[in-house]
Amino acid sequence: VTTTWWCEQAWLGGPSTHPGVVLTVDGDRLVGVTQDVAEPPLGAERLAGLVLPGLVDAHSHAFHRALRSRTHAGAGSFWTWRDQMYDLAGRLDPERLHRLARAAFAELALAGVTTVGEFHYVHHASGGVPYADPAAMGSALVAAAAEVGLRLTLLDTAYLRSGFDVELAPVQRRFVDRDVAAWAERASTWKPSATLRVGAAIHSVRAVPVDAMQAVAAWARHRDVPLHAHVSEQRAEDDACLAVHGCTPMALLDSVGAISPRFTAVHATQATDDDIRLLGGDGSTCCLCPTTERDLADGIGPAAALVAAGARLAVGSDSHAVVDLFEEARAVELDERLATGKRGAISAAVLLGAATAGGAHSLGWPEAGELAVGRLADVVVLALESPRLAGAEPDHLVDGAVFAATAADVRHVAVGGRWIVRDGAHVTLDVAAELRRSIAGAWA
Ligand SMILES: [Zn+2]
Repeated sequence: VTTTWWCEQAWLGGPSTHPGVVLTVDGDRLVGVTQDVAEPPLGAERLAGLVLPGLVDAHSHAFHRALRSRTHAGAGSFWTWRDQMYDLAGRLDPERLHRLARAAFAELALAGVTTVGEFHYVHHASGGVPYADPAAMGSALVAAAAEVGLRLTLLDTAYLRSGFDVELAPVQRRFVDRDVAAWAERASTWKPSATLRVGAAIHSVRAVPVDAMQAVAAWARHRDVPLHAHVSEQRAEDDACLAVHGCTPMALLDSVGAISPRFTAVHATQATDDDIRLLGGDGSTCCLCPTTERDLADGIGPAAALVAAGARLAVGSDSHAVVDLFEEARAVELDERLATGKRGAISAAVLLGAATAGGAHSLGWPEAGELAVGRLADVVVLALESPRLAGAEPDHLVDGAVFAATAADVRHVAVGGRWIVRDGAHVTLDVAAELRRSIAGAWA
């Protein structure tokens, strides 16, 4: 059975959009993309507005959603914020995580996200005792994404110690595996499906010893799956790495064979010129999370230099301080403007590419992220009559979407040809009510 959508406007890549595009869907794939069709063909569903490929959130910690409104005020730094985050992490169990992640993923769906990469590190019960099912927490995330209808790449995260010569905080025991073999055993639990992929993550160079990083990188290489790591978010991490290993975190990751086209460095805020050359030279991805990086006073990542060096870009909601990938995408360029005093280093098309195909590549979904024949039928319909976009110049709709749209302008969202959001509402979940209940439950 094929479905036909007629798009008033559609973005097929490049600096401008196309009016009158017919998308033909068979199963979960696009089997036809026809331009310059003035009127909807007989039997086609008319999609008013601008149709984009589904957005991709390449770096999420869903449970952080319960921190929103609670951790923004007052003085402090990333490290004081982390204490508050640990308080929450200590309260989770599989049931609470499932409810919270389902609500957080549903908020992502409302914002136009069709694929999420969940960087998952709260593995065990308190005290570090594995659950009867050692994969219970990851499976809670898998179930949550499936109930919302999102594609998920579960990035099972290796976390083996607190830091270079630092005692484990009590809550960190929940993150820590006995050894890298125990990590690999759990990470091999889940079988890929039409909407699930599994990748590997190294929490950070401070949390994983060198030999274990090597083993995680080899695991991902052997399976040809994504490998992610938090890299150089904070100066203190880089200083400690320099003191212990005599090199930057990126150089250390390179020395264990981590850096490849399958690798994504999350943040890279403090990356040096050599680090940028390493990432760009291997065609790796840098996932920037500007709304979180600004909330945590991390700094501004070197986005334009990374693009110039050949790195791919992706964006992530990370701490869910804000869930709006249009805001993440434009912040990449707007922060660059503030840092350099120059405009226009990264075009709107490249920014939108980071929020779609760039993220899809980073999460191991090369068949997602573009409206093209053979790709997955994951689409977002953006309202052009909203106050944000009303009056936009038709030849500049990509600029309008990237620099002015918000998550609230998302009208409909389909994953694999099936609508999961219609008219701004999730098809099965009352998202605000789910958020309210699950957040209250997490803190109870
Ligand atoms: Zn993160």
